[in-house]
Amino acid sequence: MSFDYDLFVIGGGSGGVRAARVAAGDTGAKVALAEEDRYGGTCVIRGCVPKKLMVFASEYADMVGDAQAYGWDIKAGAFNWGHFRGKMHAELDRLEGIYRNILKNNGVESFDARAKLVDAHTVELSDGTRKTAKHILIATGGHPVKPDILGAELAITSNEIFHLETLPKTMLIVGGGYIASEFAGIMNGLGVKTTQFYRGAQILRGFDDEARGLVCEEMCQAGIDVHLGTNVLEMRKEGDQIWVKATNGEERLFDQVMFATGRAPNADDLGLEALGIERGRKGEILVDDYSQTGVPSVFAIGDVTDRVNLTPVAIREGMAFVETVFKGNPTKPDHELIPTAIFTQPEMGTVGLSEEDAAEQEPIDVYSTSFKPMQQAFAGRAQRVLMKLVVSKASRKVLGCHIVAPGAGEMIQLAGIAVKMGATKEDFDRTVAVHPTMSEELVTMKTPVRSA
Ligand SMILES: Cc1cc2nc3c(=O)[nH]c(=O)nc-3n(C[C@H](O)[C@H](O)[C@H](O)COP(=O)(O)OP(=O)(O)OC[C@H]3O[C@@H](n4cnc5c(N)ncnc54)[C@H](O)[C@@H]3O)c2cc1C
Repeated sequence: MSFDYDLFVIGGGSGGVRAARVAAGDTGAKVALAEEDRYGGTCVIRGCVPKKLMVFASEYADMVGDAQAYGWDIKAGAFNWGHFRGKMHAELDRLEGIYRNILKNNGVESFDARAKLVDAHTVELSDGTRKTAKHILIATGGHPVKPDILGAELAITSNEIFHLETLPKTMLIVGGGYIASEFAGIMNGLGVKTTQFYRGAQILRGFDDEARGLVCEEMCQAGIDVHLGTNVLEMRKEGDQIWVKATNGEERLFDQVMFATGRAPNADDLGLEALGIERGRKGEILVDDYSQTGVPSVFAIGDVTDRVNLTPVAIREGMAFVETVFKGNPTKPDHELIPTAIFTQPEMGTVGLSEEDAAEQEPIDVYSTSFKPMQQAFAGRAQRVLMKLVVSKASRKVLGCHIVAPGAGEMIQLAGIAVKMGATKEDFDRTVAVHPTMSEELVTMKTPVRSA
């Protein structure tokens, strides 16, 4: 049977673009890709990249104060959102252009269109044309969802925050995950009076308790009004503002409200049901270890499969798919010991098991130290950092490493290599400290603070 293409990719985000590029570029496969919105997907257009630029922008306020403490005669001026937003979007346009060119330069034919499946080897584009392919890869990502609350339509999500006309004076951020917590820090840093509601007992659920406790404490210290165990009951427009009634009975007015309460896979209206492709509880596409759906010619990667929703993971799933299907080398994407950073202020870097999860698995020793880092302490800031290792009593392997500190994301990338290699606590100890740094504590902690 002959097909128009060897591979048709639906979705031009992190995973889709990488799979299309490598399949076409490395193996000479005939590849097409459809993208209904902007190339680069969530990460480049409305996720990691613009968010990190906003983190950078928001960190300068404190730097001016620190510089003054170090003797610099400088004064903080006002933050110009319009100037920054213009530059940020110009950068996103530039990156989108790069993504388009990557596809073109590798011989991938791209269609600016929505695509859906018609049968196991056919996709239909939004203009009605149909294309056939030996393999179809679904890499359609996910989208933010708002809770079913009266007045929820008044709130924005992370999709809209990058396009605000003006910065609000006051803002409520609802949610306790990494996106909510990161934007609470960003907005606070940009001078917005920021409140965060989270219905749970502590933000950053799933991460190490001690680490997330310190992040929350420091966020409060920095001026964010964090309300735990609190959710929005209802909202309505009041003049230019949004009136919010909270579950704790409080009623308040905000200029802007953002929900960062969850995301859902983009798997509706893709024609999956007609083909019998199964979906999970959250609507995600169910795949096996090789990212293959129940229909042998159809694969899915990235956020639409809701495994580990991070850009580097979507990319690796895409590469593993190409290895398996186009290079004859069956490869499972490795989801073990993924280092990750949460760009809160302070930042958190983490790899492996939290103390709580490790203790459920086996007896552990916990090495942990929290202190005021030299650079900020000298400037008179009370900020504390955390360096923590969770160690197996039996094997002495480091099961988890958790860092809360400026630059923790950079640190955990490197510590992640050691942990992934199976380093023991004694391997860490044998490594000479880099002095004076914050992360030297990771190799100088002598006695466990507790065992469990
Ligand atoms: C605010 C925010 C911050 C984030 N920060 C980080 C971070 O710091 N680090 C990190 O690793 N990850 C981060 N992420 C997560 C990361 O962005 C995603 O995990 C990653 O983009 C997933 O890649 P993907 O290829 O699965 O999907 P996406 O990148 O979402 O790409 C999917 C693409 O498919 C297109 N599409 C959807 N349906 C169709 C269709 N039917 N036809 C054609 N095209 C379609 C979409 O328009 C989109 O461009 C963040 C996410 C958000 C929302």
